Amino acid sequence: MNKGVFSEFTPIDDLSKLYPKPDYLPNKVYVDPYVADLLAFAPTAPLLKHPLKKTGAIAFQDRASCVPAQLLDPPRDAYVVDATAAPGNKTTHLASLLGPDSKGKIIAFERDYRRAFTLKETVEAAGAENLVEIRPSEDFLRSVPWSPSEENGLNKVTHILLDPSCSGSGIVERDEYAYVPKNDPDRRRRPDPTSDYPLNKSPSAIEYEENKTWRPGSTEKDRLFTLADFQVRIIEHAMRFPNATRITYSTCSIHAQENERVVMAALNTSVARHRGWVTEPRHLNRMKDWPRRGIVEECEGNEQVADSCIRFKPWDDGGIGFFVAVFIRNEQQRALLP
Ligand code: SAM
Repeated sequence: MNKGVFSEFTPIDDLSKLYPKPDYLPNKVYVDPYVADLLAFAPTAPLLKHPLKKTGAIAFQDRASCVPAQLLDPPRDAYVVDATAAPGNKTTHLASLLGPDSKGKIIAFERDYRRAFTLKETVEAAGAENLVEIRPSEDFLRSVPWSPSEENGLNKVTHILLDPSCSGSGIVERDEYAYVPKNDPDRRRRPDPTSDYPLNKSPSAIEYEENKTWRPGSTEKDRLFTLADFQVRIIEHAMRFPNATRITYSTCSIHAQENERVVMAALNTSVARHRGWVTEPRHLNRMKDWPRRGIVEECEGNEQVADSCIRFKPWDDGGIGFFVAVFIRNEQQRALLP
């Protein structure tokens, strides 16, 4: 890190030492050993008005939410799909990984046109317009990846990030205004800069809008079933992309039904078996020593699959509860098929 950039803070080297009882010291910046390019600050650190925030050079994001783009690890000129993109935190993270000289692009689907506006704003604020092609109001599940036409770019896609709608059960209560000084006139209007969701709507209200099949009166169990069904379908669809080699799947849910069980169901689909999609711990790159993995019992006892999944426990692991799995296409496995 360039010391001059945050000269008002004194760096120390390891964010992990703070957990499980985070007690951030003001005026210190913490460096995360697991998540590249992530710096952590005390909630009271005066960052909202930092010049780098205003230019879009830094973005606020929950620790775990930084992991999917990092694990997707697209090479500089890759064609990448962000299948469920708004408000765009992971889209812009992907753009920063490709970098300004990339010849690749990020195709960002967002089914909800209102949320697509927010996505556009996030992309513009990050100065990533040249790299991101927004597909507003487009349903990723209806995209046609095997189209012979070069025009839609989808047949060149090698990396796919899936961060679909989920129950949000891992989202912990935050003091939305911890970042804003008490006498700041914007205090009432300013949203929580780290949130994926607008302040005036709870995750469940948003899920209701996103999942028209879920209706008031249906039970939590029905809702999880509907979400899990959608989550498996979205992975299955991504696995059909002819040149895709790597997919990340993530949720901010703590429920195995939306996490390990979805991964198992996706691996058991015929498209996964015929195209050689697998999960392997060695593809967790920088996260391969992360201690909290998938739950073996929820992976039908398959330790390798469980070990290929990353879990974040709410609070204890530095923010919201989160789950990430990486699927890769293993040509050898495919060759073994009859
Ligand atoms: N990845 C985003 C980020 O980090 O900022 C958060 C994504 S949010 C959890 C899920 C988004 O997916 C919602 O904005 C929702 O409208 C969108 N969505 C849900 N189903 C979709 C589909 N089939 N196609 C495209 N977008 C979809």
